[in-house]
Amino acid sequence: MMWEKTEKDGLIYYTLPHWRERGAELVMTTRVGGFGKAPYDTLNLGYHVEDDKKDVGKNREKLLAALGGEPSRFASAKQVHGRGIRKITAENCGGFFGHEDAADDTDGLFTLEKGIWLATFYADCLPLAVFHPEKKLLGLAHAGWKGTYRDIGGALIEAMAAEVSFDPSELWCAVGAGIGPCCYEVDEAFHERFCRRYEKAEAWFTRPGGGKPHFDNVRANVDLFAEKGVKRENIACLDLCTCCCEDLFFSYRRDKGKTGRHGLLGALI
Ligand SMILES: [Zn+2]
Repeated sequence: MMWEKTEKDGLIYYTLPHWRERGAELVMTTRVGGFGKAPYDTLNLGYHVEDDKKDVGKNREKLLAALGGEPSRFASAKQVHGRGIRKITAENCGGFFGHEDAADDTDGLFTLEKGIWLATFYADCLPLAVFHPEKKLLGLAHAGWKGTYRDIGGALIEAMAAEVSFDPSELWCAVGAGIGPCCYEVDEAFHERFCRRYEKAEAWFTRPGGGKPHFDNVRANVDLFAEKGVKRENIACLDLCTCCCEDLFFSYRRDKGKTGRHGLLGALI
């Protein structure tokens, strides 16, 4: 159930070999191997930041070529920290060439069709993926704290189950790299808000040195998946902190907002 580091054409990314064996390729990109200049160096995939659009286009082309995908069968979203989920088919792909063509008001994408690359983008927020290895159903979701608060992972599972019925205990889930509890200091109001919303939220916070609360977004999302009926042994966590791992990831918090976006991409193969 482990993520594996892969190097190809100068790119470094993480994949899940046991998912690939069952028909889904999942790819957590890093900032390595692209064309961008500081502070977007180098593999920034986000068009909506102030990077050179030509560099972003070249980065996306290089990545998609390495993955064997096609720009016309690529789907991304204008992520808004909401609860919107969209089913992607060959007819409603879009977003490869520009942010304006990406799906509106959407933080989760899923598909039943082979060869469509779903793409979500991050700089500290947590990448989530859900796969049904028998029914060949794959989804991705973007969980910043607002997404976690709104249980975007649960919303994704519900939307997928509305399309093809299944028992959540049959699902495989994955959690990519996001900001870890080491670096995610929050205020007391944040802590109280979560504890009011979720009974088990107290376990998602630590107080290093007895000081301000730190939020563990990975643990929160694993617990929320488990609450939905996903087996804990079927959840693969990458367990890398985007804020600590400056060589590998962009971090909104570390870089004070001026940074690029890495991605979680996935396709049925
Ligand atoms: Zn950290």
